[in-house]
This record gives sequence, C-alpha cells and structure tokens, in this order.
Amino acid sequence: MIAANIESHLQQVRARIQAACARAGRPPEQVALIAVSKKQSADAIRAAYQLGQRAFGESYVQEALDKMAQLTDLDIEWHFIGRVQANKTRQIATHFDWVHSLADPAHARRLNAQRPADAPPLKVCLEVNLSGESSKEGVDPADVADLLAVCDALTGLRVRGLMTLPAPTEDEAVQRQPFAALRNLRDRLATPARPLSCLSMGMSDDLEAAILEGATFVRIGTAIFGPRPYN
Ligand SMILES: *Cc1c(COP(=O)(O)O)cnc(C)c1O
Repeated sequence: MIAANIESHLQQVRARIQAACARAGRPPEQVALIAVSKKQSADAIRAAYQLGQRAFGESYVQEALDKMAQLTDLDIEWHFIGRVQANKTRQIATHFDWVHSLADPAHARRLNAQRPADAPPLKVCLEVNLSGESSKEGVDPADVADLLAVCDALTGLRVRGLMTLPAPTEDEAVQRQPFAALRNLRDRLATPARPLSCLSMGMSDDLEAAILEGATFVRIGTAIFGPRPYN
C-alpha cells in the first residue's frame, strides 16, 4: 500500500517538475528532487529509493541517524534541511553529504572542524531569511556576504548555493517574489571561483514558482509521502 502510493505520488511530482521546466524553458536535468522524508519511516525511504529516488532530506538529526542505520545497504545522498544546532554539528558533519540550512558562522566553523578528514568537503547552501520578521530562520540578506567570506576560508565546507523557506502563500505571483529575490542575491554574490550554482527553493505547494525563478533543488515531502504521520 505504502509503496503504491509513493509510486504514484513520485510520478506526479516528477511530472510537475517536468511541466514547470517546460514552462520555464529550462532543461529538466537542472532541477534535482530531494525527497523530504522527515517523520517518515525507513520503509518509506526504501520504497522511494526502489523507484529511483536517491536524494533524501531530513530535519531532525537523531531521527535521521536512526533511519540511516536501517538503510546502510542503499546509496543515498543525505541532505540536512533542519535547523542546525551547535550540539548536533558533529553528527551532521559526519553523516550528511549536504547541509541546506547553514546560517551562522559559528556553526560553519564547527562543521568544518568536525568534518571527517577522509570525507569530501561538506556541500552547503546558506539559508537566507527573505520574509523578514515573520521567520527567525536564516541569515539576513545583508549578512550573507560576510557568512560567505567565513565559509570560503574553511576547507571542510564548500558553499554551493543559497536556500530559502518562505512563508506559505497561495498566489503563484506572490510565491515567486522571495524566489526571485534569492536568485538576484545569488547573481550579486557569485564569483567565477564560487558560482553559487545551486538554488534550493520550492516545496510541495510552491515548486512551480520556484522552478520558474531558477530553483536547482526542490525539497518535496508531503506531495511524495503524504501527510507526515506525527508532528
Ligand atoms: C518539511 C520541509 C520541506 C518539505 O515540505 P513539504 O511541504 O512537505 O513538501 C522542505 N524544506 C524544509 C526546510 C522542510 O522543513
């Protein structure tokens, strides 16, 4: 039952991404799908994996580690998308391939120091707060350049782009505004050596708007796995 639902949901999400890319005049290979499996079971992850999904997003460190331990036979790319806490940075640096939610220079230094020496640099997106006071998460747009400068000096991290998590809204034109703002910020801060080619933006309800504004990662939970079973 679970697997059948995930299959049809995953097909629908892939079709939505394809259609949005066609509307945007972008090749669909430019948009990678992260299946957000927070609060979902290891079996649900395994089912999506068997349908070809490889990138999974998790928000809670201990929950993610418990599932990773059950899925060691799978070649999963793990993305940490939750709030980074200082007392969890070692586990994040050890067990994840990507962090999308870095917003604090002290966390950057800890992740750098704690990244295992035999692992490739941790790939990072800086989370930008584009909704002002309505959100406490993410770095202020005016402070992104300083955080980038800190990260650029850390060999255990590689900043690949920017991420944002806007307040939900129904109207596609309104949804597009923070995504366009993130793209513009990226265009201002990119350099040839550090092109910030990744834009991590778009969830189940606004992936079309994000793709129209240049998303290269969409982070999709409920549209693949259904409502989260507990919260
Ligand atoms: C939960 C979560 C998502 C997925 O949200 P859905 O609406 O279920 O698609 C994406 N990004 C972040 C940062 C999340 O916490």
